[in-house]
Amino acid sequence: MKWVTLGETAMPDIAALVRERLENGSEFKVDHDPADIGNSILRQLKEKRGEHKKGLSSLRLSASGSCIRRLAYDFHGVEPDGFKTTSSSTLIFGTGDATEGLLVTALLEAIADVDGISLEATGADQQRIHVKVPLRGDLSDALGKPWAGVPIPGHPDGQGVVPVWDKGDDEPHLEPFILEVKSMSDYAFSKFRKEGIPFYESNGVPNGYAFQSQAYQLAKRQEGIPVRWTYLIAYGKSVGAKDAMVFSDAPPKSRRWHEDDPDQWANLYPVIGAWIPRNDEVQAEIISRYQQVLLSEGPDDFDRPHGPKRDTGHPGTKNKYKGAKRSRLTFPCDWCPHLFNCWPEAFTYAQTYGFYKELCSIHTAVPKED
Ligand code: SF4
Repeated sequence: MKWVTLGETAMPDIAALVRERLENGSEFKVDHDPADIGNSILRQLKEKRGEHKKGLSSLRLSASGSCIRRLAYDFHGVEPDGFKTTSSSTLIFGTGDATEGLLVTALLEAIADVDGISLEATGADQQRIHVKVPLRGDLSDALGKPWAGVPIPGHPDGQGVVPVWDKGDDEPHLEPFILEVKSMSDYAFSKFRKEGIPFYESNGVPNGYAFQSQAYQLAKRQEGIPVRWTYLIAYGKSVGAKDAMVFSDAPPKSRRWHEDDPDQWANLYPVIGAWIPRNDEVQAEIISRYQQVLLSEGPDDFDRPHGPKRDTGHPGTKNKYKGAKRSRLTFPCDWCPHLFNCWPEAFTYAQTYGFYKELCSIHTAVPKED
């Protein structure tokens, strides 16, 4: 088994095990119920798109890193007015469920003969866990022990035990861990590959995957189980068998890199993973964020934490607002169901881009301030 090192600790390279299993078909070593994967896909046809949960039921641990103002809109029951899910969302989520089901199955097969690694509470057996958020008192008391408070639920993709090898020890010891499986867009997957999973983005905004990992760890800690690791395994939705990445900073003029030179380029793996360690500050912030939302009087208690990024009215863009004075709203605002509640002056427009193949997509902007 391959190991990856994080500071003074070595952890199993689970993504390498999964890739190997995906490349080598064989008889199953574990009993799997194909109906579980089928049901998870068909569930997408039952879910009512566009129906928004309100009040306490809108709060989920999976959204612990979301924009706090957006959490407050839903918690206070404001009708959404912004990005709406469409038929493409149903297909994307269904495809994601199918691939995630296949990945978890491959993972269970890959670890079947590996000493020390075990995984349960996957698929239809996922466990519902809760972070209890106190409404008053010292927030540090809510870390790491059972605590009376408002329960916020979540469903990790799996829970298990993994060997952890600390520097200086003769052999690894076993620790509990949480599994999260993600399907990622091109952008998110390349970012994961280059930067890993930071707790905060470069602009200080929480990283949703990292916060979700800490929320689940915190829920288990409050149950009295001292989890300090989450394994996030992800696949790139658009990674193909012929995709590669280059390491060279000085590409030759022909933009071709030599064969068999591992220092210059390598195949892109479609599946990669990362161990995310416990972070007490982030876990305390998660409790604090939920507490602020629960005690707020409305979304306007919170300033807009996200805003216009850049002026898109540069010459050469083909769109009907060419030359208009506007500032573009990007993620997460352009995907936010409360976009127009939050930015009443926002507007959308279609913009074409690309050279060999012209593409066109919808952008969102607000009038640029003078
Ligand atoms: S539009 Fe942006 S700032 Fe406003 S609630 Fe949504 S994500 Fe937050």
